Amino acid sequence: MCGIVGYVGYRTASPLLLKGLKNLEYRGYGSAGIATCHAQSCIEVRKGIGKVEEIEKKLNFESLDGDMGIAHTRWATHGAVTDRNAHPHTDSTGKIAIVHNGIIENYKELKEELIEKGHEFRSETDSEVIAHLIEENIAYGFEDACMRAFKRLKGSYAILAIKEGEDKIIGVRKDSPLVVGIAEHGTFFASDIPSFLEWTKNVMYLYNYDFVIAGKDGIRVYNEGGEVFRPIDTPSLILRTYT
Ligand code: GLU
Repeated sequence: MCGIVGYVGYRTASPLLLKGLKNLEYRGYGSAGIATCHAQSCIEVRKGIGKVEEIEKKLNFESLDGDMGIAHTRWATHGAVTDRNAHPHTDSTGKIAIVHNGIIENYKELKEELIEKGHEFRSETDSEVIAHLIEENIAYGFEDACMRAFKRLKGSYAILAIKEGEDKIIGVRKDSPLVVGIAEHGTFFASDIPSFLEWTKNVMYLYNYDFVIAGKDGIRVYNEGGEVFRPIDTPSLILRTYT
């Protein structure tokens, strides 16, 4: 298990992401990181090993600028607990960043294929292939590139992706938890509801293969190529057992 958090909206993302990560600490982890940007600014990634609070002291997450971002606490499955293996991971250009919870079972063959095409990898994780797969398809546009990349993945995943020049977060889930929180000032993603409960109780549960595009003013959800409607729930009793 690990924690994933995302925010896009009208507030500065980093304090919300930091608190969102702290609210998921009960899930266990060995490293953590945050990536943020504005639609028109470069993505900045800060990540390291240890507890969120210790990393925060060293890297000052809260000084990260930007009204959207993604964050992660890592429970290592592929690659040691190191700064480089911590999420978020970026593509070769540093313009696309992703966080991933789960296991990409076919990452070895994907990595070989991508290395042959000239991609440079910086981590030992299975997750990094996702950023490079999106990069490989980016000529189709960010949304389509993500859709094409996610279709290549086998295994379990909750993924959030951002790209420079795009004011949206793209998310997908299959056999790993991912929920959406709709607040007045923006949209949250998280592995579990307690992450964003202080800001909103409006929760959207996602189904396997739901592909979510979240912008400042709303979200769209697709599954099997078509747009789908997922109800927004405001549970009065929220349990920490959502999986
Ligand atoms: N398999 C990925 C890794 O080892 C993600 C682990 C997680 O779910 O935190 O980096």
